[in-house]
Amino acid sequence: MKYAFSAASMGRLQEWMTSRPLLAFDIDGTLAPIVARPWDARVPGAVQRDLANLAEWTPVAIVTGRAIADARPMLGFSPKYLIGNNGAEGVPGFEAAALEFARICRGWLEQLCGPGEEWRSTPDLTLEDKTCTLAFHYRHAAHKDVIARLIEQRVERLVPQPALLEGKFVLNLLPPGAPQKGEAMPVLLKRSGCERGLYVGDDVSDEAVFRLRLPELLTVRIDRVRGSAAELYLKDQAEVPRFMSELARMARAEREESVQSAGGG
Ligand SMILES: [Mg+2]
Repeated sequence: MKYAFSAASMGRLQEWMTSRPLLAFDIDGTLAPIVARPWDARVPGAVQRDLANLAEWTPVAIVTGRAIADARPMLGFSPKYLIGNNGAEGVPGFEAAALEFARICRGWLEQLCGPGEEWRSTPDLTLEDKTCTLAFHYRHAAHKDVIARLIEQRVERLVPQPALLEGKFVLNLLPPGAPQKGEAMPVLLKRSGCERGLYVGDDVSDEAVFRLRLPELLTVRIDRVRGSAAELYLKDQAEVPRFMSELARMARAEREESVQSAGGG
């Protein structure tokens, strides 16, 4: 992994931006700092403005674990693609499948909310209904290992069996066959018509995109994590606003150049 702000990486990014790539970003831990309560998370105003400017120039995709309805109000602009539920919601071509995913989740909720369910009386363990997926959150639990085991044991008995996607103190339950971020990104790249893409993320779910190792996709991970498949890294989320403003600056330069060359004929 190379530091994204090294001279070599910035040169690579600059060159990458000349092709007007699809720009794709995760939200929590990437565009928005992680906060104690997920509903308090905000994308900083400057980052929203950079995103809006970039979106006027090239397709922007937001690819998040949140439900689309939850993510949309966090963005000060309308991205070309808004993918929710880690890929289970919003991927073009999966509209009918998303209805089926929602039906499966309703079934799981019925199973999980019956009488005598141990997880329901466990402190600091919450279940989030994201319509197309479910998520157990235990960020504030004192004994995280114990709780993680409790969830795993309960989830094993669900019908049908969910695919599991672990995040930072969250376990996502995905309906069988639901696309994840690693499946969503190639679809978006193709749909966008862009020759290249850039993907920025911070978590296990994003590694599925990094691991694709597509030559047309440049990848950036927040935090230098051992074993990450991303090509570039930022030291922490606090570096994201500067990274976004660099992208916006490169886009502006590209725009001006194309106006000049068009005018100069
Ligand atoms: Mg994230």
